[in-house]
Amino acid sequence: MICIWYNYYNNYNRYNGYTNFVLMKKQRALIIIKPDAVQRGLSGTITKRFENVGLTIIGLKFQKADSATVIAHYPSTDIWFEKVGQRTLKNCAAKGVDPKVIFKTDDAISIGKQVKQWLITYFQESPVFIMAVEGYECIEIIRKLSGNTIPVLAAPGTIRGDFSYDSIDLANEAMRPLRNAIHASDAIEDGEKEVALWFKPEELFSYERADEKIMFP
Ligand code: ATP
Ligand code: MG
Repeated sequence: MICIWYNYYNNYNRYNGYTNFVLMKKQRALIIIKPDAVQRGLSGTITKRFENVGLTIIGLKFQKADSATVIAHYPSTDIWFEKVGQRTLKNCAAKGVDPKVIFKTDDAISIGKQVKQWLITYFQESPVFIMAVEGYECIEIIRKLSGNTIPVLAAPGTIRGDFSYDSIDLANEAMRPLRNAIHASDAIEDGEKEVALWFKPEELFSYERADEKIMFP
């Protein structure tokens, strides 16, 4: 019965020129063009990549980030601190470097906490360019366009691979976060939460891009 209704519903909409997807839902994501890319004049070039792929920009602004928002933006969970700290520890092990020389500890969670402190300072170095985007498969697309968190490992063609070659070694020795051009939400729930954190409801717009009818008939 549901199947008959679904086919009828879809065929009706198809006849009218578009499919009203029932199973597929649009997702939202937050992109932040970070201070390193803003200061290098890359905001327009990077924005273009998200427009080119077909995502809809539903919110856009340029502002100085306050520390409370950055603190709320990056998780304060042991899971996140551990993930970030392990990235450094893995790199130290591969290079034969003692993490205690820089971090005075070899505990992943403590290292993750130090990186978060660096992020708070880094995000306030200059204004940031904040964008909310929407579309089907949005999270998967933006992470693919962004590339590996560590720019030196990011594939050519990705934003981080094309606009930065920063490494954990360079970042940690200078006691700063990776300057990797952008932030991109990395889970569906995070996208919704982050858009709501950085944008007021009245700063978001709902409209349909002209190419949606051609791409998703
Ligand atoms: P983002 O959340 O900014 O999109 P990401 O999801 O790829 O990046 P996370 O693990 O969430 O990566 O780390 C957040 C940010 O913290 C990174 O983008 C980077 O700037 C910085 N960072 C993460 N790990 C390290 C590290 N080990 N050393 C220095 N900076 C780091
Ligand atoms: Mg992240």
